[in-house]
Formats: sequence, C-alpha cells, structure tokens
Amino acid sequence: MKNNLYANILIEYPTKRIDKYFTYKIPDNLVNALKVGMKVKIPFGNKVINGFVMNINDTFNEEYELKEIIDITNKELILNKELMELGEYISNNTLCPKIMAYQAMLPDSLKIKDIKHDYNSYKSYISLNKSKEEIKEYLNNYKKINKQTEILYGLLNEEKLDKTNYSYSAIKSLINKDLIKEEKIQEYRINKSKNTNLTKYKLNEEQEYAFNEIKNSNKNEVFLLEGVTGSGKTEVYLNLIEDTLKNGMNAIILLPEISLTMQVVNRFYDWFGNDVAIFHSALSSGEKYDEYLKILRGEVRVVVGTRSAIFMPLNNIGIIIIDECHSDTYKQDNTPKYNAIDIAIKRSEYHNSPLVLGSATPLLEQKARAIKGVYKHLMLKKRATGGLLPNVCLVDMVSEIKKGNFIFSEELINSINDSLNNNMQVVLLLNRRGYSTTINCSSCGYTYKCPNCDITLTYHKTTNNLRCHYCGFTKHKDDNCPNCHENALNYLGLGTEKVEAELNKLFPSARVVRMDQDTTSKKGAHERIINAFKNHKFDILLGTQMISKGLDFPLVNLVGVINGDTTLNIPDFRSNERTFSLLYQASGRAGRNTLPSKVIIQTYNVDNNILNFVKANDFESFYNYEMNIRRILKYPPYYYLIGIIIISKDYKLALENATKVVNYLKNNVKDEIIILGPTTANLFKFNNNYRFQIVIKYKYNNDLFDKLKELDILYTNNSKVLIDIDNNPLHI
Ligand code: ADP
Ligand code: ZN
Repeated sequence: MKNNLYANILIEYPTKRIDKYFTYKIPDNLVNALKVGMKVKIPFGNKVINGFVMNINDTFNEEYELKEIIDITNKELILNKELMELGEYISNNTLCPKIMAYQAMLPDSLKIKDIKHDYNSYKSYISLNKSKEEIKEYLNNYKKINKQTEILYGLLNEEKLDKTNYSYSAIKSLINKDLIKEEKIQEYRINKSKNTNLTKYKLNEEQEYAFNEIKNSNKNEVFLLEGVTGSGKTEVYLNLIEDTLKNGMNAIILLPEISLTMQVVNRFYDWFGNDVAIFHSALSSGEKYDEYLKILRGEVRVVVGTRSAIFMPLNNIGIIIIDECHSDTYKQDNTPKYNAIDIAIKRSEYHNSPLVLGSATPLLEQKARAIKGVYKHLMLKKRATGGLLPNVCLVDMVSEIKKGNFIFSEELINSINDSLNNNMQVVLLLNRRGYSTTINCSSCGYTYKCPNCDITLTYHKTTNNLRCHYCGFTKHKDDNCPNCHENALNYLGLGTEKVEAELNKLFPSARVVRMDQDTTSKKGAHERIINAFKNHKFDILLGTQMISKGLDFPLVNLVGVINGDTTLNIPDFRSNERTFSLLYQASGRAGRNTLPSKVIIQTYNVDNNILNFVKANDFESFYNYEMNIRRILKYPPYYYLIGIIIISKDYKLALENATKVVNYLKNNVKDEIIILGPTTANLFKFNNNYRFQIVIKYKYNNDLFDKLKELDILYTNNSKVLIDIDNNPLHI
C-alpha cells in the first residue's frame, strides 16, 4: 500500500485579504518535486487559484475526501526557509495577512505567463580544457603563430571566450587536441562585463577607517555611515563588497531609486560585472525573471536593487548595505507596508552579517540609535575629492517681490550668468511640476478642483490641460471661467514648466533641460538627461527633488533653489527633516570638484531655523534642534507611531467607524498608549473616498498589536468601510 502525502496550503483569495489554510492531497506525479515554499495551483470552488505550500504531512485525520493539487505554478519560484520565516515577521510587524507578505516576496510579476520559457536561449563559449601551465608549455613548443594560438593566448587572459568571434576550424582543431572545450551557457537578457581598466581610488584615511571597522566586525552589527555629500561612500561600499566576495560570501546593496542612480549602478558593474544581479520595478518582466533566476541558481554574488530586492533569495550573505538610508522609498506605501531597512536588519541577523546604513542626512531615529550605541557610528567629514562644501546663502523673496522679481532674485540671476560665462553648469530645484499650481477666476473666485479628491488641479501648459497629481484625473482647460464665463482665469503658483519658459527668456543662449515626472515617463529617460547634462550638452538642469539624489556632476558650481519653503509648509511631523534633507542633498550637488561653489536658496522665511541650518551646512545642530521638538511633541524617536486611516465612500460611515475604532482602542489598550483622533486625514478625500485618521503613540506595544489585528480582521469582511493600518509610518 502506498502512503499519501498532504500539503497545507495558504491560499490566495481572488478578492479577500485573509489568511486561510486548506489541506490538499499531493498527486503521485508531484510527490518528488513538491517542496515547502512553492506556489501551486489548486482547485477552489469552481475556480483554479494559487496558494503557498506551508508544510507537508503524511497524515490527514478527517473523514472527507481531499482534492488534489493541480500543478506547481513554477518550479523555480520558491521561498526558502529564511524567506518563509521573514514572511511571518512581516505579517506580525506590518499587521498584514501572511499571504500578502508572501505575495510581496514572490511577486506575480515573476510568474510571467507570456515568457513561454524563451529564457532558455543559450550561447556557446570556449574555455581551456587543461591547466594554464600546460597550455603555456604547449605554446612554447608550438613555434607557429596562427588562429589557434590566438585563441589559446586569449584564454590565458580570460576564462571564456564567445565562440562566434573565432574561426570555426581553429576551434575544431583545438577541441580535437583536447586543449579547449566548448560549453553552452544560458544567455540572460542583462549581461555586463567588468571594466578592465577600472580606476580604483586609494581610500583616504576616513574611508579606510570606516572600511576596516566594518570589515573586521565579522558579526551581526548595524553601522551608520554618516558621510557628507561627496565623501566617497560608494567607494567604501565597493571595497567592502569586494572583500566580502574574497571571503566567499555574497552581498546585497539597496539604492533608493535606480533610474536616477545608474551612475552608481554602473560602478557596480564596472567592479563586479556579471557577478551582479540587478532588481527593480522598471525592469521588463523577462529581465526580472532572469535576474531572479541568476540569484536563485547561485550564479551571481551581488544583488543591487531597490526596496523589493531585499527579498531576493541570495544565500550566504556576508554584508548588506543600504545607501541613502533616509530615503522614503525604502518603505512600501501599500500593504504590506514594510520597510526594507527592518527586513535588512532581520536578514543580517539570520546571516550573522554586518548591515551598513549610509547617508549624509540619516533619519533622526537612525542617528539617535547611532549616538546611543545601538548602531556603530562612523563618520566621513571630508569630501573625497578634496573639494569644500558649498557656500550657502538665503535670499529674501519678500523684498525681491517688491522689486518686481517674482521668480528669480537678482542674486540668482547674476550667479547664473557668472556660471554660464565661466562655462560651468547650474542645477535648479523647484519641487513642483506642471506650469502653475492652481488656476482661479479673479471675477467669481472659482478654483479648479479634482472631482474625486479634495485637491486643486495643476495646469500643464505643454498639454494645455489640468491634472490631479494624486489620482491622475485630467481635464481640458477652458478659455473662460467655467462658472461665471468671464475671461478672468489667473495662473497662480509656480511649476517647473513655467520656470523653464522663464529661463529661456532670461538666458536665451543657455541650453536648459527639465527633469521631472513629465519629462521622464519613458524608460531610460532619466539616464539620457543625466548623461547629456554630465557631458555638458546642457548648461542648466532644472528639476524637482529628483535632481537632489546622488548625482555627481563635476562642472556644477551653482545650485539654486527657487522656493525653499514648499516642503516646510506640509503639515507632517517630518516636514522639517525632509526640508533639511532635500536642501542639504540638493546643495551637495555643487562643488563636486575642487573649485569653489555656491548655493542660493530663495525663501519667504529668511529667519527660519531649518533653512539656517542648511545655510551653515550643519546637520549636527539641525539634529539637536529637531530632536528637542520631537521630544516635546512625543514623536519618533521618543515614541513609536501607528497611523490608522478609516476609508469609506460614505462620509457618515467613515466618521462613525473612525469614532468606533478610537473608542474600542481607548477601552482595550493600556492607558499609557496615546490615541489621537479621529481627524480628517491630510488627503481627506481621495478618489471619491473620505478618509479619517487616527494616530497612536506608544513606547511599549504590550498587546496593542493584537488588538489592531483583531480590528483588521473585523474590517476585512466589511465591504463599505476599509481600515488601513501603518506601523511606523513615514508620513502622518
Ligand atoms: P557620496 O556617495 O558620499 O556622496 P561619491 O561616492 O559620489 O560620494 O564620491 C564623490 C566623488 O569622489 C566621486 O567622484 C568619487 O569618484 C570620488 N572619490 C571617492 N573616493 C575617492 C578617493 N579615495 N580619492 C579620490 N576621489 C574619490
Ligand atoms: Zn484626484
């Protein structure tokens, strides 16, 4: 008699987000292939759905007849033991169903139906079939120089050569002599080789110190590498990874964003070539699948990617590095709302390896942990090229406006002219895309608003339409006011399109390029703009916060911020921190070489503390100032936060339920946990949904998470009201 095997399967409901296990019988043809962590197809009602195999047993005690698993969704897609445990952690930490954690870790984009296994295309290579010594001896005795010796000399320098580049008959003769062999290697969509004339800088004293501290740690330890802009953090990362590979271990490095940091990614290809797998959302599904397979098959040793790359099934991890660790992009906005840094901490614990967080402006909680000694604090205080940090000045726009300068101050205009005359380059930041931020009617006061959201529409001149930057709603602009029909529409507020038009008027001979979401929607557009600017095809780069991120342009000696106040006015406890970070990072684009450089920040608040810390290039004082505010107002790092949003199309239902949730929590959790709200959320109406917000502040969670899980489950079955819980939100 044959023993039956059964699998407990966590199923993917087509609509519900809920954890349910069901037992299925494993058919004989799958008994050997099926493993825990695999995705399988199963019959469910009259549908076929997917599920994850959670465990496999040889007994099943119920009386009824079980259905059989239909098939394995894809043999190559499997969560290993580490990742299975990680899913559990994510579920507990972000208060989401386990199934959603697993779905995020093994995304549907890897399931790729349309690929039809054409990834199995192979390429032929030749390599030596004898030791190098034997080949050298052979060449010494073989007096002629011909196509065969050319191949052998080639293979003494490189491990393998592309067969198609060499004479067929020469290859055949060498194979017959047993000197070389031919092998077929799977050809992946992305293929990069090392740069053979790579310049590796000798690390300076600070870099060397940081490198040695991390290298010698050899255990699970978190480092905060706080290095001013241009201090050469990337160089430290590259050396650390090289060292890790030498020790036979592998590395993950996360970057906040790939399309803006191709400069950095290319450094990794230069150093490690095909040992690198890259993983981010802008890859095609075929590329994603290939890169995933390279990792799963153990064919690469370095994973470079954005947030989701932290889930790549890389084994034997010797180091994890998170660059620009202050970046919002490490936190996922939708469920599961995980933070890749938390995941990295877990993975580095599992692998007993160091984790490096690098930034010029770490988050307050990151720096606080470093100061407390929870993280090891390493500093790079000098720029690696020997250049100085730029001179920053604040320009008072209140007095400029009196002079009739609405967009550009006299000082900024003069400085732009200076840069252009010296054949240098300028970077200008305006954190708002579009032409004008609002249009209103001076006759009746009408303002264009999004019909779905509680937000004014932005005018885009290039396309002559109005757009909602939240839900994407688009509307053609009218000539006259749609309300009173007067010809009295005014364009208020400033967007990048308008500044671009102004620049073209003021500096007619300057070559201006604009970089914002509207000019970079096509694949590769960021990289094209960045490369063109780097190669001095343009004189002025104007853009949104995109341009503040990690770009290295040696000819830039002026950075101008058109309106330094935009981010200050956002009602969020992190808006000071974001403003400091944005302006400090933007300033850091200036003075990348040894020439003096300048930053001009235009503002309506010249006395603002935050702007003055930027002016002084003083992260330390900003930190102390802001920590004091956080302490007084009970915000992180002094308290942990949870944000809850209650969402409904029905205003009354939303408010009622928000009040219910607050009352429930107040009655059921410890008194020292602070529960605030309900209040209207920042984005009160979004896509025709009303949103009420509750904020929880706590030091010790006790049974708070259990109560929140109960709430979550309660609302999962409610089709009219949604609950959205965010543990450690980056925005409130
Ligand atoms: P960060 O990431 O800290 O802002 P980068 O890694 O972009 O800084 O380095 C800034 C510049 O300094 C780059 O052009 C880099 O090539 C150069 N650089 C880095 N390390 C050294 C070094 N040891 N000697 C000389 N130049 C260096
Ligand atoms: Zn909208």
